[in-house]
Amino acid sequence: MDLSFTPEQEALKQEALAFARRALADDLIARDRESEFSRDLWEKCAAFGIQGSAFPAEYGGGDADIISVMRLMEGLGQGCKDSGLLFALTGQMWTVQMPILRFGTEEQKERYLPRLCSGESIGAHGMTEPGSGSDAFSMRTTARLDGDDYVLNGSKTFSTSAPIADVFIVFATVDRSRGFMGVTAFIVDRDTPGLEVGREIEKMGLRTAPMAELFFDDCRVPVANRLGREGNGATIFGEAVEWERACILASVVGAMERQLDACIAYANTREQFDRPIGKFQAIANKIADMKVRLETARLIVYNAGWAKKSGGKAAVESAIAKLYVSECWQKSCMDAVQIHGGYGYTTDFEVERDLRDSVAATLYSGTSEIQRNIIARYLGL
Ligand SMILES: Cc1cc2nc3c(=O)[nH]c(=O)nc-3n(C[C@H](O)[C@H](O)[C@H](O)COP(=O)(O)OP(=O)(O)OC[C@H]3O[C@@H](n4cnc5c(N)ncnc54)[C@H](O)[C@@H]3O)c2cc1C
Repeated sequence: MDLSFTPEQEALKQEALAFARRALADDLIARDRESEFSRDLWEKCAAFGIQGSAFPAEYGGGDADIISVMRLMEGLGQGCKDSGLLFALTGQMWTVQMPILRFGTEEQKERYLPRLCSGESIGAHGMTEPGSGSDAFSMRTTARLDGDDYVLNGSKTFSTSAPIADVFIVFATVDRSRGFMGVTAFIVDRDTPGLEVGREIEKMGLRTAPMAELFFDDCRVPVANRLGREGNGATIFGEAVEWERACILASVVGAMERQLDACIAYANTREQFDRPIGKFQAIANKIADMKVRLETARLIVYNAGWAKKSGGKAAVESAIAKLYVSECWQKSCMDAVQIHGGYGYTTDFEVERDLRDSVAATLYSGTSEIQRNIIARYLGL
């Protein structure tokens, strides 16, 4: 069993790391405080080829295989401290661009993908509703066919990038009595009459990735903007979250490496009782545990990527990756704050921001409890 990356994949990671350190470092402490998204960094990422990386060249993409894309994201996560930016970027790639690529008509692909890949457009995903989160298919947003349009009514919440998005993938039911068989996906342009983007939702972490509610009031969406067949929304959603769960934490693996390096440097320089704190076994053990989490998280993420690359379906591998890496990331963030002592609790040392950002990882794209349910179901429980 050969677990090594190809020289090209290794080079990709190093290029992404160098790019992130060079081009994506700004006054993040201030932007995080102000909950400010950076369009400038978004466009730099697009110019470097991030948004397009996994997509065909004919739509402005980079045609990279999934392992290469993960390697790219790992380098980015290591070099860029703006976890909000990377979360919004990867969310768009897997839950907006990928569904359009996989289920869109040729006209839809040509219309939306090049602009999403180039950074000209930003995409958001609207599934969660105030009354339906984990039980996503019990949604109340309806779509009624009326001539050449569907008429959407209802609301969505927690939609990442909604305040800045130009286009939304929205799920609505054409018939609630059909359960998940009634769920249908639509591509909705921001300027569609009847769509209102609500207030920006303030949150604990990932503050540079804005989030908002969406309201649909007799919002007329042309039939030409339906994504896939009527009633195929559950399949489209399922596939999108599988991609997302497999890949979204690749950048977190990079962030874990960045955090580990910062903790080693701090433990070697901060002295108490006339010696570096790293010489205390209690601190050294925390750092050793962080290293073990990093290495196991990396293996599990690439295992999910490998499953997607070789077989296509990887629901269980993706659930395991999402569950394990998000929980490792949270634990390591807690350790990083503890290693930094009181300074770790201050904004200047930046490990407190990682901790706040990490809490989201066990919630978005299906909570840890839901990932455990998926794994247990696979085991026949
Ligand atoms: C940062 C962030 C970004 C997000 N971005 C988006 C986005 O772009 N688009 C979008 O549509 N949504 C988005 N979400 C929403 C996210 O998908 C939901 O928050 C998540 O699915 C959980 O739904 P909920 O918040 O309604 O919690 P609930 O479903 O109400 O769950 C509450 C608690 O009950 C537990 N629970 C629920 N059902 C079960 C069960 N069957 N077994 C065991 N435990 C259970 C949950 O695990 C959780 O602990 C985002 C969320 C966050 C935090």
